[in-house]
Amino acid sequence: MFIDTHCHLSIEDYEDIETILEDNRKEGVSPIIISGCTKETIIESLQYGNLYSDAFVTIGYHPSEADITTDEDLFLLEEKLKLNKVVGIGEIGLDYHYGKENKDKQIELFEKQLAIAEKYHLPVVIHSRDATFDTIDCLKKYSVSGVIHCFSGSLETAKEYIKMGFFLGIGGVITFKNSNLADTVTKIPLDSIVLETDSPYLTPVPYRGEKNSSKYIPFIAEKIANCKNVSLKQVAEITTSNAKYIFHLD
Ligand SMILES: [Zn+2]
Repeated sequence: MFIDTHCHLSIEDYEDIETILEDNRKEGVSPIIISGCTKETIIESLQYGNLYSDAFVTIGYHPSEADITTDEDLFLLEEKLKLNKVVGIGEIGLDYHYGKENKDKQIELFEKQLAIAEKYHLPVVIHSRDATFDTIDCLKKYSVSGVIHCFSGSLETAKEYIKMGFFLGIGGVITFKNSNLADTVTKIPLDSIVLETDSPYLTPVPYRGEKNSSKYIPFIAEKIANCKNVSLKQVAEITTSNAKYIFHLD
């Protein structure tokens, strides 16, 4: 059994969620954790969490929402965290890929949500793109742990996050030929890894270029098994137990 710890199932990308969940289960991928990270997708994700027993939810405001998120939105987020099926806060973080113009606003939104996570003892799911230094700086100010989502940094950065008590979310990028992630994964313990797709993005080889799906998780797990020279079953068992531990599933 595999857990997809991070996917987006917006109605804009996936119309027939019931069939998607059925296909996932056939491939042994269940439960999944849906990330709602805008006002609209937070509502959608919570609905799916209510409807399907094997869909859990993390909610939080993505750094792309930094300019439009108000204190009232944060108050509403705090209220929704108390709902059943919400297992963490995310994805939240910093993204300087398209520029740093609103860096201060991003940091402010990120830190406010880290404070909420600390208050409710909830794990966080971190989005960090071209912002490793500031991300680590913010995280160190709060007593939180969780997952560094879609990790693709250096071995040094991986070690730093692990030392801070974080797990690394490994997705389709590990199957890409132009990525060094496979090499990094050979050198970090399986005990620090969880699986994720980040659907609809980052589809693993051999389906790269198509829309991603949680049912492709076994391709990511297979690649990790090769890197670590262990069986697919071991990858499934350890990453599933890691995910259950972080998100307090079952
Ligand atoms: Zn994501």
